Amino acid sequence: MNFKASNIFDLIIIGGGAAAFTAAIFAARRKLNVLVLAKEIGGQAALTSAIENYPGIVEPLDGITLIRRFRLQAEKFGAKVNVEEVTNVRKSEEEFFVTTPQGEYRAVSVIAAFGLTPRDLGVAHEAEFKGRGIFYSMAIEDSTLVVGKQVAVVGGGNSALEAALRAVHDAARVYLIHRRNEFRGEAILIERVTHEPRIVLRLNSTVLDVAGDDRLHSVTIADSADASHKEELAIDHLVVAIGFGVDARCIRSVVELTERDEIIVDEVGKTTVPGFFAAGDATMIRDKQLIISAGEGAKAALSAYQYFVAVKGLKPLGPDWTVKVRI
Ligand SMILES: Cc1cc2nc3c(=O)[nH]c(=O)nc-3n(C[C@H](O)[C@H](O)[C@H](O)COP(=O)(O)OP(=O)(O)OC[C@H]3O[C@@H](n4cnc5c(N)ncnc54)[C@H](O)[C@@H]3O)c2cc1C
Repeated sequence: MNFKASNIFDLIIIGGGAAAFTAAIFAARRKLNVLVLAKEIGGQAALTSAIENYPGIVEPLDGITLIRRFRLQAEKFGAKVNVEEVTNVRKSEEEFFVTTPQGEYRAVSVIAAFGLTPRDLGVAHEAEFKGRGIFYSMAIEDSTLVVGKQVAVVGGGNSALEAALRAVHDAARVYLIHRRNEFRGEAILIERVTHEPRIVLRLNSTVLDVAGDDRLHSVTIADSADASHKEELAIDHLVVAIGFGVDARCIRSVVELTERDEIIVDEVGKTTVPGFFAAGDATMIRDKQLIISAGEGAKAALSAYQYFVAVKGLKPLGPDWTVKVRI
């Protein structure tokens, strides 16, 4: 295939969150020609309205504002940012080919920083209503989508609790559906939810099915212990907040993953493939926090830079460009 020069980069970074944009800042400052391909800008940080543990942020700041600053900083140093979802990555002898629905790009190296993806409910008609009544997050900016709506949130952790509390200001009604009889989130959020009279709790309940026409109209729930006890709720906006997992489909054929599909990396972001680096929540690094993803992004970018210098013959290629950890 003939590549337009504009589709050829030194480094392609997959992701639009803390890890990806930090990597872009560090690589662009070293004058690598960097393309960031992000399905959406913000990542998980966009789901929280108050970040309080990121150094330098004295007053709580919402996550989307923080990540937009990361992006601006990366662009300031010359990184190009395209909002495109990566569907495949393949490797030739010397380069990587990265595919999105909009085109194919080529690069000397890749950093995978695509974080975590919300889990599906796993009910029969879910796919029909994705984006047409069923959503997998309740970002701050989504509040306008629920004005006057019958909303249900599914889940029992912080994301679900935050989503219910956020929706309650604008929605006509908010149900919070959880399969257990107690929540797993922060005590302060649990207290706010349980003291909020406008949030209607449906505990010990699981979603059995969803229905509608061109949009979602109802959700059928059942008693977790006895599925014959059913209830049909009139719902036009369902937020599924039942956790996250790594969706590594686009790189599965290129790089080795753990049994949980996390990318295997060493302490500087190298993977099992030379030239392919990874950072952030998509990797096997234990702690999933913004500062950690950002730090891992910086390390992966510095490794990618050293690799670039080596393959371009500017410095001898080191003895080993792959991960050394064993899992
Ligand atoms: C509700 C909530 C609150 C949180 N609060 C805090 C907090 O207060 N403090 C804290 O430190 N941490 C917090 N965290 C954790 C923190 O948000 C994550 O650790 C951090 O966002 C991980 O960053 P990341 O860049 O690795 O991945 P993510 O934030 O998951 O970003 C992944 C990015 O990759 C993109 N992407 C995914 N697949 C593809 C693809 N195929 N092609 C292109 N792009 C793709 C996504 O659209 C997204 O932009 C919170 C998490 C949640 C869910």
